[in-house]
Parts: sequence; C-alpha cells; structure tokens
Amino acid sequence: TDIEELLLSRIRDVADYPEPGVMFKDITPLLADPAAFTVLTDALAGIAEQTGATKIVGLEARGFILGAPVAVRAGLGFIPVRKAGKLPGATLSQAYDLEYGSAEIEVHAEDLSGADRVLVVDDVLATGGTAEASIQLIRRAGAEVAGLAVLMELGFLGGRARLEPALAGAPLEAL
Ligand code: 5GP
Repeated sequence: TDIEELLLSRIRDVADYPEPGVMFKDITPLLADPAAFTVLTDALAGIAEQTGATKIVGLEARGFILGAPVAVRAGLGFIPVRKAGKLPGATLSQAYDLEYGSAEIEVHAEDLSGADRVLVVDDVLATGGTAEASIQLIRRAGAEVAGLAVLMELGFLGGRARLEPALAGAPLEAL
C-alpha cells in the first residue's frame, strides 16, 4: 500500500550495526519526517481502537517514541516498560534470555489492573524476546493483552511464531 511504501522509504538500513553481520533498521529518518511520523501514529492509533485497548504500553526506548503519540491520539494512557532499575516506584520485573546472557524489564505495578486491555507498541519485532517478556509482565499485573503493534517485523527471525503462545489469540499487527 501507499502507507507501507512511505514508511519503508523512511527506514534506513545500517550494515554491521550494532555488531558485524547485523543489518540494523534505523527509524530516525521516519521520526524526522512529520508526514511519515503522522501516518505511522495514525495507523497505530487505528489499531489501538480496533483492538479495544484501554492503555498503551511502550517498550524502552523506541517504543516510547512511537507509543506516546499513539496514546495521545487514541485518548489512552501511556505506560512505560523500562529496563531494570529505571522506575522509582514499586515494580513487577520480568527476566528474559538474550543471545548472550539475559535482560530484565519492569513496569510500575500500580499502572496496570484487571480492568485494562493493553496494546503493546514497539518499533521492531526481531526475535520476539522483548515483546514476549512484556506480555508476561502485563498478564502478571492482572491486565489483558489487546495485542502487539509494531512498525516492522523482521520475519526471518521467527518472532511471530515465538509469540503465538504468549499472545493467545491476540493480534500481532506489523505495518
Ligand atoms: P527482540 O527482542 O524482538 O529480539 O528485539 C526487539 C527489540 O530490539 C526492540 O525493542 C527493538 O527496538 C530492538 N531492535 C532489534 N533489532 C532492531 C533493528 O534492526 N532496528 C531497530 N530500530 N530496533 C531493533
């Protein structure tokens, strides 16, 4: 579609970043283009409405940049899921495995309740590890997962298949 072409045209491929052999998808040209950023925000806000989300969770750090304007546009609250040690209040934590070692993400426990349906927003779905941990965190907080919405899915890494059990039927939308 025209939207897909516009968004794709504003994503820059950076070879060998952050390490040799990786082709990094850089979204900063898209963020710098107000027309493209608006199209992206509107499309993600449309997904929030379709899924009946009541809250937007953004994943640190680029999920903050995309998720915050989506929350405003959709009229929903924004909740940051952060890397461990960054949130000042009482948190729930979720550890997950990386290729080498592990990582941990956190959310303020008071930000989510059983009344919430949460749409998770991030820029890129790669292996799905980050999204999977965030879904587990949301469920442990007692909230429902409305879906996962990303700008881009790196299909060859198999994130969609990995997330199937965690999503439990909730939609995964990649623009
Ligand atoms: P995953 O956990 O799915 O392997 O990795 C996804 C996370 O890493 C996302 O938070 C995303 O921002 C980041 N990420 C992985 N690869 C890329 C990439 O090529 N471009 C961008 N912008 N982010 C990436």
